[in-house]
Order: sequence, then C-alpha cells, then structure tokens
Amino acid sequence: MKPLYQRIMLKLSGEILAGETIFSPEVMNRVCQELKAIRDIGVQINVVIGGGNIFRGNMGQAQGMDRATADYMGMLATVMNALALQTCMTDIGLDARVMTSINMNEIAETFTRRRAFEYMHNGRIVIHAGGIGVPFFSTDTAAASRACEMNCQAIFKGTKVDGIYSDDPVKNESAKFYETLTYQDVLTKELNVMDAAAISLAKENKIPVVVFNIKNPGQLAKAICGEGLYTIVS
Ligand code: UDP
Repeated sequence: MKPLYQRIMLKLSGEILAGETIFSPEVMNRVCQELKAIRDIGVQINVVIGGGNIFRGNMGQAQGMDRATADYMGMLATVMNALALQTCMTDIGLDARVMTSINMNEIAETFTRRRAFEYMHNGRIVIHAGGIGVPFFSTDTAAASRACEMNCQAIFKGTKVDGIYSDDPVKNESAKFYETLTYQDVLTKELNVMDAAAISLAKENKIPVVVFNIKNPGQLAKAICGEGLYTIVS
C-alpha cells in the first residue's frame, strides 16, 4: 500500500472513544491498531481528540454555566481523552506524545511547533490536547489550525459513517453520499462535517479534508492510499 500523504492530521471526536462507558478500551485499542497500520507504511501522524464523550461547552451552558468556563471544562475533557489514547498507543508499541495548548506541565508537555516537528521526524505520534486553548472554539478548528501549523498534507476526520451525505444517513435512508465536494459546497450547503471556521482554515490553506468511517476496520489506511469509501473535500 502506497500512501498519498506523508503527514496527516487525524481528528477524532471524543464520542468515537466511548462504548458503554466514557472510554471503551476495546474501541481505543482498535483505533490505535489503525494508527499503527498507517505508521507502518511511513505516515507521520498528528491526532486531535475531542472531548464530547466527557464534556462539551454547550452541556455546561445548558446548565446555566457561562460559556467560557464551560469551554475550559471541555478543553480539560480533551486532555483526559488524549492521556487515555497515549496510554493505549504506548501499550501497543506506538511512541506517542501528548502536547497541550494550555500549560499543565505535570501532566503533559506544552505544545511548541519546534518540539512537535522533532517528534514527527523521530516517528512519534503527536496527540494535540486542549484544542487551541481558547474558549468559543472547537476541536475541529484545532485540528485545522494545527494541521496548517504542522504542514500536514491532509486532515482525516474519522466519523461513524462512510463520508459526507446530504442528510444524516442514519435517520434518512435516501440521503445522498458525496465522493467529492468543494470547501464552498460544504459551507454553502451547511453540511454537518466540521464547523465553518475549520473548513475555512482548510480552504484558505488548501488542505484537503478526508471524511471516512473510523468504525470500518482498515478504512483509515485505505483512505490514505486513495482506496475504499470516503469523501474528499478540496
Ligand atoms: N473547546 C474550546 N476550545 C477549543 C477546543 C475545544 O473551547 O479550542 C471546548 C468546547 O467547549 C468543546 C469542548 O472543548 O465543546 C470539547 O471539544 P469538541 O466539542 O470539539 O469535542 P468533540 O465533539 O470533537 O468530541
């Protein structure tokens, strides 16, 4: 298998890691095995993990909390997921480093671009935690912004479905599947894939966004080699 991209950003929402409890060891192990498969074909990997399995800003807001505080709590949730993922990667022999956007040096190293590049060159996986460290943003935006900063050639967004549809394919069987879309299509049709800030950043920096099913075993490696089912936004 020959990868089309040598360095990628993988965005996973927190919900992907969940099973019956907030983290499912089986699911996390499977995701890490998928990462091992692409590492073994020479792909340098950045991961941005969300926090939605634990806490999202809007959950706090719904309980009357101010948005900024709730967002900081959401950012902390992403750090918890990042640590869990790092442990799981280490257990299967993948060398990974969590880097945070907010200083918490006792827990993980603060992100610096120079150090993250060193890790890339040494074959380590960098897990970016804490989003961009600023409230009123999402981890989708963090994935796009770190992808630009880390010179990634593509953003891979792992979802529970095969790519982008005109409507939710779980609720609407006749939803149309798109193989390719432009950034503008996603923005104009308001397709529910990544928020507008993330898509705009990818557009401005000409980084393709590949949306694929992370639950489909082997699909990440296939999509990186241009095979199997996925949607590419470019
Ligand atoms: N968040 C934030 N700034 C960021 C990234 C995340 O404020 O740069 C907060 C926001 O409250 C968000 C939560 O962290 O709801 C968890 O991230 P997200 O909702 O993107 O996680 P996902 O849905 O991908 O699991």
